[in-house]
Amino acid sequence: MHEAALRAAGLEGSYQALETPPAFLHARLLEVRRGFAGVNVTIPHKESVLEYLDEISPEAKAIGAVNTIVCDQGRLIGYNTDALGFIYALDEAGIAYRNKKALILGAGGAARAIAYALKEAGARVAVYNRTRERAMALCEAMGLQLISEPLLATEVLGCDLLINTTSVGLKDPGSSPLPPGLLPQAGVVVDIVYSPPTTRLLHEAREAGRVTLGGLPMLVWQGALAFELWTGIKPDVQVMYAAARAGLQNLSSL
Ligand code: NAP
Repeated sequence: MHEAALRAAGLEGSYQALETPPAFLHARLLEVRRGFAGVNVTIPHKESVLEYLDEISPEAKAIGAVNTIVCDQGRLIGYNTDALGFIYALDEAGIAYRNKKALILGAGGAARAIAYALKEAGARVAVYNRTRERAMALCEAMGLQLISEPLLATEVLGCDLLINTTSVGLKDPGSSPLPPGLLPQAGVVVDIVYSPPTTRLLHEAREAGRVTLGGLPMLVWQGALAFELWTGIKPDVQVMYAAARAGLQNLSSL
């Protein structure tokens, strides 16, 4: 989607995947300093990369994770576009969050970005995670409500916005982070997993008549925000959507 956006903007350049084992992270960043406008950072480097950066945006610092690095005359500046990308995806879909009760499933990097963004945007945020200690650390750091296992069903039923940020459902349309039949009574269901486009959670929510949102819009908007940071130009988001859809289709047919 970045290459499509570059072409649409009349810019030269390419976007490549650079496989980077953890032991090679520092060396990779030296290479980035010398020859790149910027990079995205993904699992497992989003947190460990912070120590190698010259500057970190206030959002990325509060979230504790960086997904976008801008290389400015050899200086590496870290940002987190997952947070605002998620909010733009909700806005685009007309999903309300201000003063709403949001329940986040998961406490990993994506959960941290989304929890931060929703709290900043005025939502009341609660977190449930399989590993309670991880959710507890997130809730303590950001002042969120911690949900324990016995209260999960009640919280799911009563929330306005349920967001799956766990990797359950990723490349597996048969698995769901919730037991069958457990859905918000009236709330919106969001799953940030983007492959497959319809996870089991989304399928069940749609069947039950709930408003749903998949992971593609967040993927595209976090990318659009990163593109703007690297180039100073707002990309054509529809071009990015089309390229992302085509790329994901190719991925699912592999
Ligand atoms: P991460 O930091 O590794 O966190 C993974 C989370 O999933 C943790 O909360 C983990 O719980 C939970 N989890 C994993 N397996 C589980 C299972 N079997 N049962 C219950 N919980 C389980 O990963 P991340 O970076 O946050 O990414 C999470 C997902 O979001 C991935 O699918 C990723 O592709 C997606 N994502 C989408 C976008 C987008 O733009 N749409 C952006 C970022 C990420 P524990 O703490 O108990 O291990």
